Amino acid sequence: MVKISEIDAKSMWDNTKQDLPAHQRILSEIVFSNAGSHKVCWICGNEKDIFLISSVMDNGKQMQAILCENCLMIQENTGLRVVESEKIE
Ligand SMILES: [Zn+2]
Repeated sequence: MVKISEIDAKSMWDNTKQDLPAHQRILSEIVFSNAGSHKVCWICGNEKDIFLISSVMDNGKQMQAILCENCLMIQENTGLRVVESEKIE
């Protein structure tokens, strides 16, 4: 279990978003604005069962993200290379 604050989640997003494709960035911005927080699943906005994940992108760069259990599973099945995942308290 890992504890992260809203500020941690926001700065993580600021670091990660520049490496994301534009459409994915726009979708996540909508999720954050609906949730009023960055400490939610960056894909679906789920607030429960969320994980802090580190993954390796195609260019070899490491990226951090917050994903719920379902979205993490889907992303892994479609090729996301997760090197570390820890449940968020
Ligand atoms: Zn999700």
